[in-house]
Amino acid sequence: MTKTNTLLIIEDNTVNLRIMSTLLSSQGYHVVGCTGGVAGIDAALDLAPDLILLDIVMPEIDGFETCRRLKFHDATREIPVIFVTALSATEDIVRAYEAGGVDYIVKPVRRPEVIARVQTHLKLRDAVRERDKLIVELTDTLKRIKQLRGLIPICSHCKKIRDDKGYWNQLEAYIRDHSEAEFSHGICPECARILYPELYKKNGLS
Ligand code: MN
Repeated sequence: MTKTNTLLIIEDNTVNLRIMSTLLSSQGYHVVGCTGGVAGIDAALDLAPDLILLDIVMPEIDGFETCRRLKFHDATREIPVIFVTALSATEDIVRAYEAGGVDYIVKPVRRPEVIARVQTHLKLRDAVRERDKLIVELTDTLKRIKQLRGLIPICSHCKKIRDDKGYWNQLEAYIRDHSEAEFSHGICPECARILYPELYKKNGLS
C-alpha cells in the first residue's frame, strides 16, 4: 500500500540541496531539487509533490514569497510546506507560518529531526485526505436520507404519494425509491378481518 512519496526541495545552496536530497532519498522518498523559487513553483505545478521543503533566503524570490505563490495556485495549495532555514528569529518563524508553512526546521539540520518532521507531515496530509473523503461520502449519504424528510404530499384516501415530478406513486414504491428500506409483506389484523371474515367467524375471533 505504500506508494513512493515525492518530495520537492527548493534550496539555492547546491551543497545543502545535495545533503538534503541524499538524506531523504536514503529514506525511500522520490526527491526532486530546485535551486530557486520560480523554478520550484513550476516543478510543484508539474509534479504535484506530496511535500515541499523550502529554503527562505534565496536570490530571486525568497521562501516566503515562494510559499505565498504556492498557496495561491489551486493545484499546489494543499501541499504541505516545511521551511528549512538558517533564520531562527521569532519573527522569521512567525512569518513562515503566516506565509502558509506547516513547519520549520532550523539549519544546520539534524537528520533524525528532518526525517521525523517529513514523516509526521506526510501522515497528517494523509489523515486530512481521508477525512475529506469521508466528508464527501457522508454528505452524499445525508442527502439521500434527507429525501424522506420534509413535507410529503399523500392522498388521504388511497395513500399514494406525489413525487417531485407530479406523479402519484404507491407508498411502497415511493419509500423503496427514496430510502434503503425494504418491505416484508403481511396483513394487519383489521384488514384481515375485512378480507377473510369467514376465517374469523369460524375461529370465534370476531
Ligand atoms: Mn538559501
